[in-house]
Amino acid sequence: MKKTPQTLTIAGSDSGGGAGIQADLKTFQELGVYGTSVITAVTAQNTTGVNAIYPMSVQAIQTQLEAVGDDFDISALKTGMLFNPEIIQETAKAIQQYGWKNLVVDPVMIAKGGANLLQPEAVEALKTHLLPLAFLVTPNIPEAEALTGISITDVFSRRRAAERVLSLGAQAVVIKGGHGTDPEYAEDYFLHLNGESAVFRAARIATNQTHGTGCTFAAAVTAQLAKGRELKEAILTAKEFIQAALSDPLNIGKGHGPTNHGA
Ligand code: PLP
Repeated sequence: MKKTPQTLTIAGSDSGGGAGIQADLKTFQELGVYGTSVITAVTAQNTTGVNAIYPMSVQAIQTQLEAVGDDFDISALKTGMLFNPEIIQETAKAIQQYGWKNLVVDPVMIAKGGANLLQPEAVEALKTHLLPLAFLVTPNIPEAEALTGISITDVFSRRRAAERVLSLGAQAVVIKGGHGTDPEYAEDYFLHLNGESAVFRAARIATNQTHGTGCTFAAAVTAQLAKGRELKEAILTAKEFIQAALSDPLNIGKGHGPTNHGA
């Protein structure tokens, strides 16, 4: 009997189904891996915004992590919305205890509608506890700026920011270009501790159906890593998955519509 690769997402729930845990599990399913989840916070949200955030207790997170860690054989995992320093510390502790490899850290901070998905004082905890465990970190431009204190205005500052993320202990980083200013292209910048760098360029797709693209991208990389893909190839196939989702929007909801995970 063939063994399906098993993955884990440690993230927040999005009642609107476009981002967070829901996006991750749909993406895992679509890409042929088995998904487990640890819910860090429940959000009440839809395509028009985040109405409320209910963080889980540290105990609720710890027992979910134990339930998954004691039973499943996790080949790759990702973190998304972690909300506060206590949740970050508990998550980092379990990742070390269970020896989970292929950790993709999506340093989720602020939702497109402006809601704080990470308390500002938790950025330090993310840098201290989680980045040293990361196989890949996937910040967008504002998140890379918040992690490094470097304002990304050109290719040189982008390179310096990527180097700074690696100096915090991560093995690789991809700074996503979706928030860049070029109207025609979005450029992602990849840097690995082994010195390898790459620019992944794609035509910019004009759509407002982008809710959850960051979560979906990181989940797609995680799924590919779980299937044994090499890191750069995992990133490239995840990027194709996102490009396909953006090119075929679902047109759901009254606001900022959800990513198409293959529905
Ligand atoms: N809600 C949750 C639970 C998330 O994890 C995220 C994304 O990281 C969002 C909302 C934000 O989604 P977006 O900024 O794509 O609208």
